[in-house]
Amino acid sequence: MAPLERRVSPALEPDVNAALAYLNGQWLPLSEARVSVLDRGFLFADGAYEVLATYDGRLLGETEHLARLERSLGELKIRNPHSRAEWQAIFARLIREAGGGDLAVYLQVTRGAASGRSHAFPENITPTVVAYCSPLPSPSAQARAQGVAAITVPDPRWARCDIKSTSLLANVLLTQQAKEAGANEAILHRDGRVTEGSSSNVFIVQRGAVLTTPDSVEILPGITRNLLAQLRADGIDVIARGFSLDELRAADEIWITSTTREVLAVTTLDGKPIGNGNPGKIYARAYQLFQGLKRR
Ligand code: PMP
Repeated sequence: MAPLERRVSPALEPDVNAALAYLNGQWLPLSEARVSVLDRGFLFADGAYEVLATYDGRLLGETEHLARLERSLGELKIRNPHSRAEWQAIFARLIREAGGGDLAVYLQVTRGAASGRSHAFPENITPTVVAYCSPLPSPSAQARAQGVAAITVPDPRWARCDIKSTSLLANVLLTQQAKEAGANEAILHRDGRVTEGSSSNVFIVQRGAVLTTPDSVEILPGITRNLLAQLRADGIDVIARGFSLDELRAADEIWITSTTREVLAVTTLDGKPIGNGNPGKIYARAYQLFQGLKRR
Protein backbone atom coordinates (compact mmCIF):
# COMPACT_ATOMS: atom_id res chain seq x y z
CA MET A 1 0.00 0.00 0.00
CA ALA A 2 1.37 3.42 -0.91
CA PRO A 3 2.26 5.21 2.30
CA LEU A 4 0.23 8.24 3.28
CA GLU A 5 2.34 11.30 3.85
CA ARG A 6 1.67 13.93 6.46
CA ARG A 7 2.69 17.53 6.04
CA VAL A 8 4.66 17.44 9.28
CA SER A 9 7.36 14.91 10.05
CA PRO A 10 6.30 12.10 12.43
CA ALA A 11 8.67 13.41 15.10
CA LEU A 12 6.92 16.78 15.04
CA GLU A 13 3.46 15.40 14.57
CA PRO A 14 1.09 16.58 17.28
CA ASP A 15 -0.36 13.79 19.38
CA VAL A 16 -3.98 13.48 18.30
CA ASN A 17 -4.92 12.59 21.88
CA ALA A 18 -3.81 16.03 22.94
CA ALA A 19 -6.17 17.60 20.41
CA LEU A 20 -9.19 19.48 21.59
CA ALA A 21 -12.45 17.57 21.28
CA TYR A 22 -16.04 18.69 21.33
CA LEU A 23 -18.25 16.22 23.20
CA ASN A 24 -21.92 16.92 23.90
CA GLY A 25 -21.47 20.66 24.39
CA GLN A 26 -18.16 20.41 26.24
CA TRP A 27 -14.60 21.13 25.14
CA LEU A 28 -11.87 18.86 26.49
CA PRO A 29 -8.71 17.00 25.41
CA LEU A 30 -9.59 14.06 23.15
CA SER A 31 -7.76 11.71 25.56
CA GLU A 32 -10.27 12.68 28.27
CA ALA A 33 -13.42 12.38 26.14
CA ARG A 34 -15.63 9.49 27.31
CA VAL A 35 -18.97 8.04 26.23
CA SER A 36 -21.14 5.42 27.93
CA VAL A 37 -20.76 1.73 27.05
CA LEU A 38 -24.54 1.86 26.60
CA ASP A 39 -24.11 4.37 23.81
CA ARG A 40 -25.83 2.92 20.74
CA GLY A 41 -22.84 3.95 18.66
CA PHE A 42 -20.83 1.40 20.68
CA LEU A 43 -23.54 -1.28 20.91
CA PHE A 44 -25.02 -1.12 17.40
CA ALA A 45 -22.88 1.28 15.31
CA ASP A 46 -26.12 3.30 15.38
CA GLY A 47 -24.76 6.60 14.13
CA ALA A 48 -23.54 8.74 11.26
CA TYR A 49 -20.24 10.52 10.67
CA GLU A 50 -18.40 12.91 8.37
CA VAL A 51 -14.77 13.60 7.56
CA LEU A 52 -13.91 17.05 6.21
CA ALA A 53 -10.54 18.45 5.13
CA THR A 54 -9.08 21.89 5.70
CA TYR A 55 -6.38 23.39 3.51
CA ASP A 56 -4.56 26.36 5.02
CA GLY A 57 -7.19 26.25 7.77
CA ARG A 58 -10.15 26.57 5.36
CA LEU A 59 -12.73 23.80 5.03
CA LEU A 60 -13.36 22.42 1.56
CA GLY A 61 -17.02 21.64 0.78
CA GLU A 62 -18.32 22.50 4.27
CA THR A 63 -21.89 23.09 3.06
CA GLU A 64 -21.90 19.85 1.06
CA HIS A 65 -20.63 17.81 4.04
CA LEU A 66 -23.24 19.37 6.35
CA ALA A 67 -25.98 18.64 3.81
CA ARG A 68 -24.84 15.00 3.58
CA LEU A 69 -24.78 14.74 7.39
CA GLU A 70 -28.36 16.05 7.52
CA ARG A 71 -29.38 13.47 4.96
CA SER A 72 -27.64 10.57 6.74
CA LEU A 73 -29.20 11.52 10.09
CA GLY A 74 -32.61 11.95 8.44
CA GLU A 75 -32.41 8.46 6.91
CA LEU A 76 -31.39 7.00 10.30
CA LYS A 77 -34.16 8.99 12.05
CA ILE A 78 -31.64 10.57 14.40
CA ARG A 79 -32.32 14.21 15.32
CA ASN A 80 -29.55 16.51 14.12
CA PRO A 81 -28.49 18.09 17.40
CA HIS A 82 -27.01 21.21 15.76
CA SER A 83 -28.00 23.82 13.22
CA ARG A 84 -25.58 24.48 10.36
CA ALA A 85 -24.41 27.66 12.12
CA GLU A 86 -23.69 25.68 15.30
CA TRP A 87 -21.73 23.04 13.39
CA GLN A 88 -19.76 25.77 11.66
CA ALA A 89 -18.91 27.37 15.01
CA ILE A 90 -17.73 23.98 16.36
CA PHE A 91 -15.51 23.39 13.31
CA ALA A 92 -14.12 26.94 13.49
CA ARG A 93 -13.04 26.52 17.11
CA LEU A 94 -11.51 23.05 16.52
CA ILE A 95 -9.54 24.36 13.53
CA ARG A 96 -8.41 27.50 15.35
CA GLU A 97 -7.23 25.55 18.40
CA ALA A 98 -5.38 23.07 16.15
CA GLY A 99 -3.49 25.99 14.62
CA GLY A 100 -5.07 25.77 11.14
CA GLY A 101 -3.10 24.26 8.27
CA ASP A 102 -4.14 21.00 6.60
CA LEU A 103 -6.42 19.04 8.91
CA ALA A 104 -8.99 16.27 8.92
CA VAL A 105 -12.11 17.16 10.91
CA TYR A 106 -13.97 14.09 12.16
CA LEU A 107 -17.47 14.25 13.56
CA GLN A 108 -19.83 11.56 14.74
CA VAL A 109 -23.45 11.68 15.89
CA THR A 110 -24.96 8.57 17.46
CA ARG A 111 -28.54 7.96 18.55
CA GLY A 112 -27.26 8.29 22.13
CA ALA A 113 -26.98 6.22 25.29
CA ALA A 114 -30.02 4.34 26.60
CA SER A 115 -30.67 2.57 29.90
CA GLY A 116 -30.54 -0.87 28.27
CA ARG A 117 -29.81 -2.74 25.10
CA SER A 118 -32.91 -3.07 23.01
CA HIS A 119 -32.82 -2.78 19.24
CA ALA A 120 -35.82 -0.45 18.88
CA PHE A 121 -35.22 3.28 19.40
CA PRO A 122 -35.54 4.26 23.07
CA GLU A 123 -37.88 7.17 23.73
CA ASN A 124 -36.51 10.58 24.70
CA ILE A 125 -32.93 9.71 23.85
CA THR A 126 -30.36 12.48 23.36
CA PRO A 127 -27.88 12.08 20.49
CA THR A 128 -24.19 11.85 21.34
CA VAL A 129 -21.96 14.28 19.42
CA VAL A 130 -18.21 14.15 19.14
CA ALA A 131 -15.88 16.12 16.88
CA TYR A 132 -12.11 16.62 16.73
CA CYS A 133 -9.28 17.49 14.32
CA SER A 134 -6.15 15.56 13.38
CA PRO A 135 -3.38 16.16 10.82
CA LEU A 136 -4.66 15.50 7.30
CA PRO A 137 -3.12 12.33 5.85
CA SER A 138 -2.51 13.35 2.22
CA PRO A 139 -1.37 10.96 -0.53
CA SER A 140 2.40 10.50 -0.79
CA ALA A 141 4.36 12.14 -3.62
CA GLN A 142 4.92 8.63 -5.00
CA ALA A 143 1.19 7.81 -5.01
CA ARG A 144 0.44 11.09 -6.79
CA ALA A 145 3.17 10.56 -9.39
CA GLN A 146 2.86 6.83 -10.06
CA GLY A 147 -0.70 6.04 -9.06
CA VAL A 148 -1.71 3.20 -6.74
CA ALA A 149 -2.67 -0.46 -6.95
CA ALA A 150 -6.23 -1.70 -6.43
CA ILE A 151 -7.87 -5.11 -6.24
CA THR A 152 -11.43 -6.02 -7.22
CA VAL A 153 -13.70 -7.70 -4.66
CA PRO A 154 -17.43 -8.60 -4.65
CA ASP A 155 -19.33 -5.94 -2.67
CA PRO A 156 -20.62 -7.64 0.50
CA ARG A 157 -22.27 -4.56 2.06
CA TRP A 158 -25.87 -3.77 2.96
CA ALA A 159 -28.26 -2.03 0.59
CA ARG A 160 -28.00 1.46 2.16
CA CYS A 161 -24.46 2.46 1.29
CA ASP A 162 -25.77 5.99 0.54
CA ILE A 163 -25.91 6.62 4.31
CA LYS A 164 -22.59 7.65 5.84
CA SER A 165 -23.10 5.37 8.80
CA THR A 166 -20.51 4.33 11.36
CA SER A 167 -21.36 0.66 10.57
CA LEU A 168 -18.07 0.22 8.70
CA LEU A 169 -17.14 -3.37 9.46
CA ALA A 170 -17.40 -4.52 5.83
CA ASN A 171 -15.31 -1.51 4.73
CA VAL A 172 -12.74 -2.28 7.44
CA LEU A 173 -12.39 -5.90 6.29
CA LEU A 174 -12.17 -4.87 2.62
CA THR A 175 -9.52 -2.25 3.31
CA GLN A 176 -7.50 -4.80 5.25
CA GLN A 177 -7.86 -7.29 2.39
CA ALA A 178 -6.50 -4.66 -0.02
CA LYS A 179 -3.64 -3.86 2.32
CA GLU A 180 -2.69 -7.54 2.66
CA ALA A 181 -2.70 -7.79 -1.15
CA GLY A 182 -0.25 -4.85 -1.30
CA ALA A 183 -2.96 -2.57 -2.73
CA ASN A 184 -4.27 0.84 -1.74
CA GLU A 185 -7.95 0.17 -2.36
CA ALA A 186 -10.53 -2.58 -2.92
CA ILE A 187 -12.84 -1.69 -5.82
CA LEU A 188 -16.21 -3.34 -5.25
CA HIS A 189 -18.65 -4.89 -7.70
CA ARG A 190 -22.17 -6.29 -7.48
CA ASP A 191 -23.70 -8.47 -10.22
CA GLY A 192 -20.90 -7.48 -12.59
CA ARG A 193 -21.38 -3.73 -11.97
CA VAL A 194 -18.79 -1.58 -10.22
CA THR A 195 -20.16 0.18 -7.14
CA GLU A 196 -17.35 2.10 -5.37
CA GLY A 197 -14.15 1.61 -3.39
CA SER A 198 -14.07 0.44 0.23
CA SER A 199 -13.51 4.10 1.19
CA SER A 200 -13.62 5.99 -2.12
CA ASN A 201 -15.63 6.61 -5.26
CA VAL A 202 -14.44 5.26 -8.60
CA PHE A 203 -14.14 6.94 -12.02
CA ILE A 204 -13.06 5.46 -15.33
CA VAL A 205 -11.95 7.16 -18.53
CA GLN A 206 -13.29 5.49 -21.66
CA ARG A 207 -12.52 6.95 -25.11
CA GLY A 208 -12.05 10.45 -23.66
CA ALA A 209 -15.24 10.41 -21.55
CA VAL A 210 -15.15 10.28 -17.75
CA LEU A 211 -17.70 7.88 -16.23
CA THR A 212 -18.74 7.70 -12.59
CA THR A 213 -21.48 5.55 -11.06
CA PRO A 214 -24.68 7.59 -10.57
CA ASP A 215 -26.11 8.19 -7.10
CA SER A 216 -28.02 5.22 -5.71
CA VAL A 217 -28.34 3.24 -2.49
CA GLU A 218 -25.27 1.26 -3.58
CA ILE A 219 -22.74 4.08 -3.17
CA LEU A 220 -21.89 7.00 -0.92
CA PRO A 221 -22.46 10.30 -2.73
CA GLY A 222 -18.84 11.45 -2.31
CA ILE A 223 -18.15 15.15 -1.92
CA THR A 224 -14.82 14.88 -3.75
CA ARG A 225 -16.54 13.04 -6.60
CA ASN A 226 -19.12 15.81 -6.91
CA LEU A 227 -16.41 18.51 -6.90
CA LEU A 228 -14.81 16.80 -9.91
CA ALA A 229 -18.00 17.42 -11.90
CA GLN A 230 -16.45 20.88 -12.36
CA LEU A 231 -14.21 19.25 -14.98
CA ARG A 232 -17.19 19.81 -17.28
CA ALA A 233 -16.36 23.53 -17.27
CA ASP A 234 -12.96 22.46 -18.63
CA GLY A 235 -14.61 20.79 -21.64
CA ILE A 236 -14.32 17.24 -20.23
CA ASP A 237 -17.33 15.00 -20.62
CA VAL A 238 -18.15 13.80 -17.07
CA ILE A 239 -21.03 11.34 -17.27
CA ALA A 240 -22.93 9.80 -14.35
CA ARG A 241 -23.36 6.31 -15.77
CA GLY A 242 -22.64 2.93 -14.28
CA PHE A 243 -19.97 0.66 -15.72
CA SER A 244 -19.24 -3.01 -15.54
CA LEU A 245 -16.29 -4.86 -14.07
CA ASP A 246 -15.22 -5.65 -17.65
CA GLU A 247 -15.32 -1.94 -18.56
CA LEU A 248 -13.26 -1.20 -15.44
CA ARG A 249 -10.63 -3.73 -16.49
CA ALA A 250 -10.51 -2.33 -20.04
CA ALA A 251 -10.54 1.36 -18.98
CA ASP A 252 -7.96 3.82 -20.32
CA GLU A 253 -7.71 5.33 -16.84
CA ILE A 254 -9.13 4.59 -13.37
CA TRP A 255 -9.28 7.16 -10.57
CA ILE A 256 -10.43 6.95 -6.97
CA THR A 257 -11.60 9.97 -4.97
CA SER A 258 -12.13 10.75 -1.30
CA THR A 259 -11.63 13.59 1.13
CA THR A 260 -8.26 12.25 2.29
CA ARG A 261 -7.08 10.67 -0.97
CA GLU A 262 -8.19 13.67 -3.09
CA VAL A 263 -8.04 12.17 -6.60
CA LEU A 264 -5.59 9.31 -7.21
CA ALA A 265 -4.91 7.30 -10.36
CA VAL A 266 -5.21 3.52 -10.09
CA THR A 267 -2.44 2.25 -12.35
CA THR A 268 -2.54 -1.44 -11.43
CA LEU A 269 -5.72 -3.50 -11.06
CA ASP A 270 -5.46 -7.04 -9.72
CA GLY A 271 -1.76 -6.91 -10.59
CA LYS A 272 -2.30 -5.85 -14.24
CA PRO A 273 -1.46 -2.40 -15.63
CA ILE A 274 -4.26 0.03 -16.52
CA GLY A 275 -3.57 1.90 -19.79
CA ASN A 276 0.19 2.19 -20.10
CA GLY A 277 0.59 1.70 -16.35
CA ASN A 278 1.03 5.42 -15.62
CA PRO A 279 -1.47 8.09 -14.49
CA GLY A 280 -3.30 9.28 -17.61
CA LYS A 281 -3.69 12.65 -19.34
CA ILE A 282 -7.23 13.31 -18.11
CA TYR A 283 -6.19 12.35 -14.59
CA ALA A 284 -3.57 15.11 -14.77
CA ARG A 285 -6.35 17.63 -15.47
CA ALA A 286 -8.52 16.29 -12.66
CA TYR A 287 -5.53 16.54 -10.33
CA GLN A 288 -4.85 20.14 -11.34
CA LEU A 289 -8.51 21.04 -10.89
CA PHE A 290 -8.52 19.57 -7.40
CA GLN A 291 -5.30 21.34 -6.37
CA GLY A 292 -6.91 24.60 -7.49
CA LEU A 293 -10.07 23.92 -5.46
CA LYS A 294 -7.98 23.14 -2.37
CA ARG A 295 -6.08 26.40 -2.37
CA ARG A 296 -8.86 28.65 -3.69
N1 PMP B 1 -17.31 5.87 -0.55
C1 PMP B 1 -17.03 5.41 0.68
C2 PMP B 1 -17.51 4.05 1.07
C3 PMP B 1 -16.29 6.20 1.57
O1 PMP B 1 -16.01 5.73 2.80
C4 PMP B 1 -15.81 7.46 1.15
C5 PMP B 1 -14.97 8.34 2.03
N2 PMP B 1 -15.29 8.32 3.35
C6 PMP B 1 -16.14 7.91 -0.13
C7 PMP B 1 -16.90 7.09 -0.95
C8 PMP B 1 -15.67 9.25 -0.63
O2 PMP B 1 -16.43 10.29 -0.05
P1 PMP B 1 -15.84 11.75 0.16
O3 PMP B 1 -15.30 12.20 -1.15
O4 PMP B 1 -17.02 12.56 0.59
O5 PMP B 1 -14.78 11.66 1.20
